Amino acid sequence: MLNGLKHLTVGLIEVPSIPNPLQDLRRPGFDLTEPTELDQAPVQAEESRQIDRLLEQGFPWLRFPAVLEARFSLDHAEQRLKLLLVSGMLVTVLFNWLLLSDWLMVPDMFEQALKLRLFVFTPCTIIGFFLIAKLPPPLAREWLATGTGLAASAVNLYICLSSTDAMAGPYLISLVPIVMFSNSVAQMRFFPALVMDTAILGMFGYGVYSLSEQSSMAIMIPAGLTLTSAIVFTLYGCYMLERDERQNWLLHLRERVLLRELERANKHLDEVSRCDILTEVANRRHFDEYLQHVWDRACRDGSEISLMMIDVDHFKSYNDRYGHPEGDACLKDVATMLKRRLRRPGDLIARFGGEEFIAVLAGTPLSTAASAAERVRKGVESLNRAHAASPTQPVVTVSIGVACLRPNSPHASPAQLISAADEALYQAKSRGRNRVFAFGTHD
Ligand code: GH3
Ligand code: MG
Ligand code: MG
Repeated sequence: MLNGLKHLTVGLIEVPSIPNPLQDLRRPGFDLTEPTELDQAPVQAEESRQIDRLLEQGFPWLRFPAVLEARFSLDHAEQRLKLLLVSGMLVTVLFNWLLLSDWLMVPDMFEQALKLRLFVFTPCTIIGFFLIAKLPPPLAREWLATGTGLAASAVNLYICLSSTDAMAGPYLISLVPIVMFSNSVAQMRFFPALVMDTAILGMFGYGVYSLSEQSSMAIMIPAGLTLTSAIVFTLYGCYMLERDERQNWLLHLRERVLLRELERANKHLDEVSRCDILTEVANRRHFDEYLQHVWDRACRDGSEISLMMIDVDHFKSYNDRYGHPEGDACLKDVATMLKRRLRRPGDLIARFGGEEFIAVLAGTPLSTAASAAERVRKGVESLNRAHAASPTQPVVTVSIGVACLRPNSPHASPAQLISAADEALYQAKSRGRNRVFAFGTHD
């Protein structure tokens, strides 16, 4: 199988270490010391609990805790703005429509009403359109709309109070359409609506009091009852509408949070399924996938792939001498050293099985891979981990086999590359261990 492959023995080559500031992009999540999305899990779990609590206990004051409230307002900002603008346009038409009532009920005030409605209120409302679209805080828009309703009511009250007509008192009933329009068509938020309606009721009371001499209570009392009923019924509607809107939003948000948690858990599972738990490098499965991936790419672009097979020397006797837990710690140290020394983009380190590691060096020629292997070998040796039972060295060492292939060369396959690296490792072992042996199409 290895026929045709030149071989190259690398002694104890001194190669200057190559500084590599590039971030390793191939193994997201494998470095478990780096902050991952999982670190945000407690925050999101708390958010989830908060949503459940709100759904369970309700929110009678139509208010969420600050962060949720801000998100709710923001999520509805666009829809609310559209509604307020459409309502504003309707108001300009309907408010002028009341001129008909002015003409029929308080003709002495018709001229003034015309000026107020057409030349004061209407331009102000149009300016309000632009203002409402420019005001960024959603709550400020709601209060600006409240102000418009109050201004319309004040205009009507002024017309009534200024009129000497006997119908001036009954004309106060024109406050009812303002209430109904704001609370049902403009679907005002409950608390701004409550404030506005209370003020309108106050205006009505003041109007009745001021006009008591020219208006019959037999008309004003039913008018008051009509206004109060309109306020109570439509306010109830506002409350229920806002409550349902908030509830639906919470349900939707809970769904989104659950989905995000699920995605995160899946991602974590995926990472765990590709990671060797003990050494925190890629596992065999991920290695196979990665090798196939870089192999396909190298077939297209004609680049080389080098493979390093790394085996801890006399590890069985290390275990026998120091115990299995210490053996595990040793494997972790070796893996950490591998990660530290092989950081180039395209490098992937995996646990191949037992005390063997394998490293893929995509786009790397044999000589570079051999130098890197030598750096790894030296790095492990410099750990100075005592290995009193080793017949070759008093410290833990590794033997490394290196092979390189150009995937687009005839008959090349990933299996052939692995075999070549394995054979190179065998050579490194049989030549005395603690060394690098390289096989490949070295130029
Ligand atoms: P050589 O120098 O030829 O590689 O000899 P060796 O003793 O290292 O190789 P051998 O294959 O004889 O022994 C490998 C040992 O690695 C045997 C096994 O108990 C140990 N081993 C494999 N996986 C683990 C592990 O996860 N933890 C520990 N502590 N030991 C392991
Ligand atoms: Mg070994
Ligand atoms: Mg082995």
